[in-house]
Amino acid sequence: MMYDVAIIGCGVIGAAAAFELSKYKLNIAVLEKENDVAMGASRANSAIIHAGYDPEPGTLMARLNVQGCAMAEQLCKDLSVPYEKIGSLVLAFSESELETVKKLYDRGTQNGVPDMRILSKEEVLQMEPEVSHEVMGALYAPSAGIVGPWEYTIAFAEVAVQNGAEMKLRTRVEGIEWADNHYVIHTNHGDVEAKYIVNAAGVNSGKIHEMVAEKTFEIRPNRGEYYVMDKCEAARAKHTLFQCPNENGKGVLVSPTVGGNLIVGPNAEGVSGENDTHNTASGMAFVQKMAAKSVPAINYRNSIRNFAGVRANLNKDEFQIGVAAKQFIDLAGIKSPGLSSAPAIALECVKLLCEEGLALERKENPVTTRQHIHFRKLSPEEKQKVIAENPLYGRVICRCETITEGEIVDAIHSPIPPCSIDGIKRRAGSGLGRCQGGFCGPRVLDILARELKVSPLDILQDKDGSFILMNETKKEV
Ligand SMILES: Cc1cc2nc3c(=O)[nH]c(=O)nc-3n(C[C@H](O)[C@H](O)[C@H](O)COP(=O)(O)OP(=O)(O)OC[C@H]3O[C@@H](n4cnc5c(N)ncnc54)[C@H](O)[C@@H]3O)c2cc1C
Repeated sequence: MMYDVAIIGCGVIGAAAAFELSKYKLNIAVLEKENDVAMGASRANSAIIHAGYDPEPGTLMARLNVQGCAMAEQLCKDLSVPYEKIGSLVLAFSESELETVKKLYDRGTQNGVPDMRILSKEEVLQMEPEVSHEVMGALYAPSAGIVGPWEYTIAFAEVAVQNGAEMKLRTRVEGIEWADNHYVIHTNHGDVEAKYIVNAAGVNSGKIHEMVAEKTFEIRPNRGEYYVMDKCEAARAKHTLFQCPNENGKGVLVSPTVGGNLIVGPNAEGVSGENDTHNTASGMAFVQKMAAKSVPAINYRNSIRNFAGVRANLNKDEFQIGVAAKQFIDLAGIKSPGLSSAPAIALECVKLLCEEGLALERKENPVTTRQHIHFRKLSPEEKQKVIAENPLYGRVICRCETITEGEIVDAIHSPIPPCSIDGIKRRAGSGLGRCQGGFCGPRVLDILARELKVSPLDILQDKDGSFILMNETKKEV
């Protein structure tokens, strides 16, 4: 099979590109090395839809951030992705930081960020009573939001699959060759032929670029570590609370999450690669110390999880988006605000492919929406109705988050079926609560084994190899 387009990597960027391209009459393959989508930076980040005052005016990053932010609300509504437009504050704690806030306001104005305001100390404390009284003012950007980052990715990918895109999981790209008028992509599962390639391989996008072109940029993997706090800490912030950006990035933030928790982090530390996602004592101590400047009263005894994500930082402050070789598009080095910019980057990708000669004919009625039952968000009447249609919605499996068996079974039979407990977590939300799956984990395992008709021994926690149960036979294998 000769594909029109092969997309390498299915984080939010590859998934958004697949979503946009799947609206056209094209044969699309998505090649993802992991056993699920959203397994890289797209599942481990701050989950903020940035307003767009941070990037340098005139850059692609500035344009695509503001455009992506404007697109997010409607897209999330259409795709049943959790999103809240809560606005963000950049807090200033000194005269020089007040100057930075003014500069950010000017930059935001040039970038086209709507409705920003510079707030006085009194206004900040009225909006955010838990903020340190050392605060001197802030930049308020009401267009900023928070999103479910893996749901955003999964939703784009699922719709692409419903429109006919082929999702090839566990398919690692190992080499690429040009053969007269198309590419031959060597993978661990044989060759894939495609006329056009989109490189959306995140931290590995530099390596993929170098398979077809000279090295022109360098990815410098950089880890950010976080605390996720129990819902009892959620009232500490109503908006996303940033500190003034510095040479290490956007600084440590305190923010509500779409799940009703509070997130605190990240730090920024150079690491060797995408798999360097462990938490460190020094990193967590740094996060606590820095966050105390913004919100002093956070009680870290209420932390329910730590995690870390790896940024695909570049040796320049810009996305690497463009034609790298004939019929080959880089969507590379997409660091923050990549999540915010994803739908706009996808439109840019379509434009670049078209300029490279890809013929685009729109499908008559492509799928552009996705329905997803969030049982706990239904009214009592709606709950009764769905339980009458399917009694599995009447059986709560995850007690912390009130996730029902019906939602878990829906996830298992969704367009990109998950094979792990964490895959179910990212789709249905089970295991995200205070006990972090301590109660529901074994029940989800049973349901997965039952629905997939496999042995419970075969069920994974997360990536390939992360088996949960063992028996003597398996030990010998
Ligand atoms: C700590 C941190 C905080 C952030 N906070 C924010 C934020 O609040 N707001 C925001 O807008 N952005 C934020 N970002 C940035 C955002 O997360 C990224 O820009 C975005 O997730 C990048 O998506 P991606 O698809 O390019 O990369 P990824 O999500 O990493 O996806 C790349 C995919 O390519 C696959 N792959 C790699 N190599 C191969 C291969 N050889 N063959 C096949 N597949 C391959 C990987 O398995 C992976 O699934 C943050 C990032 C980090 C790390």
